[in-house]
Amino acid sequence: MYRDMKYRFPFPKNIKINIAYPTGEYAHENFPESKYAVDFLVEIGTKVIAAKMGVVVGIKSDSDEWGLDKNLVDNTNFVVINHKDGTYAEYLHLGKGKVEVQKGDKVETGDLLGYTGYSGVMDLPHLHFNVFKIKDKKGISIPFKFEEI
Ligand SMILES: [Zn+2]
Repeated sequence: MYRDMKYRFPFPKNIKINIAYPTGEYAHENFPESKYAVDFLVEIGTKVIAAKMGVVVGIKSDSDEWGLDKNLVDNTNFVVINHKDGTYAEYLHLGKGKVEVQKGDKVETGDLLGYTGYSGVMDLPHLHFNVFKIKDKKGISIPFKFEEI
């Protein structure tokens, strides 16, 4: 299907990788748009880098609203990158004013995208990372793998 499912971890090498899979009503697998998403438990202000090269097609960085109310979903700061193979990666829960790329920017694997923060639906500090394709104007989460670089 997609030739290159491999991604590097979206953090600099010195960051300890801790992946969490939320359960219950917030479980990723309950929603087609986030089925294969992972949450990296990292401190606020952690550098986020591109897990794969592509073009920045969406950003938001003006929110400092967050909490467990699901209505806060539109308050998530994020970066979305479109890859060569047509897939997208989204990097969610960035800090207010902490997105370091612009829409239209070309990024290489490893380029700085921004810094984690509190925004959107969350409690513990984390980066939500997801790969998806677009079908009928909706994002559908697709499987991916990480490789150490
Ligand atoms: Zn998540």
